[in-house]
Amino acid sequence: MRRDPVTAFIALGANLGDARQAVEDALQALDRLPDTRVSARSRLYCTAPHEATGPDFINAVTRLSTRLTAPQLLLSLQALEQQAGRERPYVNAPRTLDLDVLLYGDATIDSPSLTVPHPRMWQRAFVLCPLAELAPDRVPQACLQAVADQTITPLTALAGGHAP
Ligand code: ADP
Ligand code: MG
Repeated sequence: MRRDPVTAFIALGANLGDARQAVEDALQALDRLPDTRVSARSRLYCTAPHEATGPDFINAVTRLSTRLTAPQLLLSLQALEQQAGRERPYVNAPRTLDLDVLLYGDATIDSPSLTVPHPRMWQRAFVLCPLAELAPDRVPQACLQAVADQTITPLTALAGGHAP
């Protein structure tokens, strides 16, 4: 029997090479994953490195509807990172592409390779601001306020509006 689709939120980030193109390419590649479609995407954001090094990041969050299991989804994301030339010389190194599972339905997952909700998302403006665009009900105001000191700039206009 086919699984029901699950709504998952994925964080995209890049700060090496043509980061903006890498994020755009990744959004298209996510839409082409088996049994998966991109149902919404946030604006692109430019953010200063946070607990990381190197050039500024391009960040976004996307909402997927997927029949992949959470471990299958993680493996698919890691394959896309590899295709984009991801290397991991050290923790928090600059990266051509980082794809993290933020939320997978309402699931709580705590396995050696996968923790959901993503354990560090609540401290990261580059995750919470784009996620709040797509799913304001999943981002408590107090969490947004707690990261208000982090530098983050939207690069594209909101649908029907203007970037500040
Ligand atoms: P980071 O994203 O923390 O900068 P990596 O992309 O190299 O670093 O991921 C490190 C490890 O985090 C991966 O090997 C993966 O198994 C694990 N991981 C745990 N939970 C998640 C998650 N929710 N999304 C993506 N990776 C995760
Ligand atoms: Mg990652």
